[in-house]
Amino acid sequence: MILFFGTRPGKTEISQLHGITCPYCEQTGTLSVSRTSNWFHLFWIKLFRISSNTVAECSHCKRVYYEQEFTEPMQKALEAHQP
Ligand SMILES: [Zn+2]
Repeated sequence: MILFFGTRPGKTEISQLHGITCPYCEQTGTLSVSRTSNWFHLFWIKLFRISSNTVAECSHCKRVYYEQEFTEPMQKALEAHQP
């Protein structure tokens, strides 16, 4: 019997960070955050989420921020978006 299992990316959620200033170009309200989750699957049935990857992008200067580069206001705004 062959087991098919592994990981696959889930859907990407994009949320806009309102009132947050981009640390690079200093424009306000240009940052959006996308969160992609990776799921463990068995026979292509999603079993559980193993990791999630969050990046922020500025629509003005196109700078991409990874989670470890988020500023405190960005983190706070993100927490407000958590369900
Ligand atoms: Zn920017």
